[in-house]
Amino acid sequence: MPAQKKADVVVIGAGIVGAMSAYHLQQQGRSVLLLDRTGPAAGASAGNAGILAYPEIIPIPSPGIMFKAPKWLLDPLGPLSIRPAYALKIAPWLWHFWRASSRKAFEQGIAAQTAMMELAATEMARIRAIPGLSSFIDNTGTLDLYDSEASFNAAAHDWLVKEKAGFEFKRVGRAEIEELQPGLAPQFRHAMYSVSGLQVNDPKEFTRAVCAKAEAAGAVLKPAEVVDIAATGEGAVVTLANGERLDAGTVVLAGGAWSRKLAARLGDKVPLETERGYNTTLPAQSFALKRQLYFNDHAFVVTPLAKGIRVGGAVELGGLDLPPNYARSKNLLAKAARFLPELDTRGGTEWMGFRPSLPDCLPVIGYSTASRSVIYAFGHGHLGLTQSAATGKLVSDLAAGRATGISLAAFRPDRFR
Ligand SMILES: Cc1cc2nc3c(=O)[nH]c(=O)nc-3n(C[C@H](O)[C@H](O)[C@H](O)COP(=O)(O)OP(=O)(O)OC[C@H]3O[C@@H](n4cnc5c(N)ncnc54)[C@H](O)[C@@H]3O)c2cc1C
Repeated sequence: MPAQKKADVVVIGAGIVGAMSAYHLQQQGRSVLLLDRTGPAAGASAGNAGILAYPEIIPIPSPGIMFKAPKWLLDPLGPLSIRPAYALKIAPWLWHFWRASSRKAFEQGIAAQTAMMELAATEMARIRAIPGLSSFIDNTGTLDLYDSEASFNAAAHDWLVKEKAGFEFKRVGRAEIEELQPGLAPQFRHAMYSVSGLQVNDPKEFTRAVCAKAEAAGAVLKPAEVVDIAATGEGAVVTLANGERLDAGTVVLAGGAWSRKLAARLGDKVPLETERGYNTTLPAQSFALKRQLYFNDHAFVVTPLAKGIRVGGAVELGGLDLPPNYARSKNLLAKAARFLPELDTRGGTEWMGFRPSLPDCLPVIGYSTASRSVIYAFGHGHLGLTQSAATGKLVSDLAAGRATGISLAAFRPDRFR
């Protein structure tokens, strides 16, 4: 059956990665059709914690992690859990995760993320300078808190690695902690403070605003579900759920955690999974929160948003189809109330989101192995908002056949073969 309609570039997925890709492509003179089955901002980009976490260059799979992880799994509501119904399905992903925790892979991961984060900061600064987008990004500073001196010391090497990469922090004790954030429980006597910590104050509206900027530049946003992609000689054909077929010069797959099936249609078996995350957004008056607080020993954050305070994080491996277990959000909220005794936990809205995650904690950014007409931009895990502007820039470079400012070798779709 011949493809019926023609498009220059089709971007699949109007999360923050697809939105930034559409914006950059449109700025480069391409003509973009941005498709989303329910969006914009229908997935992880709607409810994340909003942190622009440039210093997070250290991949989670690290030497020794396989000895630590089983301890975390003992608590079904702890920082990491596997839904029993999903234990077998996640096994291949965990095998790749274990392989990625070798010393060599870990060092390579740090190098790749360091380069990516440098680009991320530069490109997000450009986005921040655009009228209508600048008001979404606040400089609140980040306070990384530890329960004890022992846990702070255990993380000291990671801070050294971040400092060597050029990020600046200050170690702070109880007196400064109290000044930076009044109302923290007395156990918090050891922390790192980053004065430059940035925060998107409304991730959902920010994503929508980036989409609107792309539209203002000429992009067309259309509600549609993509069910197939096929490479052709000069481009690619995209099939929609209603049977419509689009003949595109370039296709960008930015479908977040749902990208795996479409990449497989092109022969790319990418071990993309989801790390499900939970949070609760409380009314703004719930607590006088001055800045982002990261509770390192419990893997969750409390962030100040334009419309409230968001409490959440942690990881649940449970795939895309199992129902949410909001006992996890409640557990995080109860912990937050212990750590911030004056926090009013009433009136919150619970949410679960699907982080799109590769086992080595690096995204997939690059051409499909089937054709240079299909570009992948998915799998940013915990860092998709942070790296979205950089990814949009890289996608536009790839679409133009230009050299990218950083090496994309670590982000290749076929690296797990
Ligand atoms: C609890 C939590 C906290 C987080 N905190 C942070 C943070 O502080 N900082 C940070 O940088 N990152 C954070 N993240 C991660 C970040 O949210 C994600 O990495 C990022 O949003 C991924 O963006 P995306 O555009 O790739 O995917 P998504 O936002 O999930 O968007 C994918 C879009 O594709 C559409 N789609 C999928 N398949 C199809 C199809 N076949 N046809 C049409 N449309 C399709 C979906 O409808 C969706 O709108 C957090 C995530 C969670 C869950």
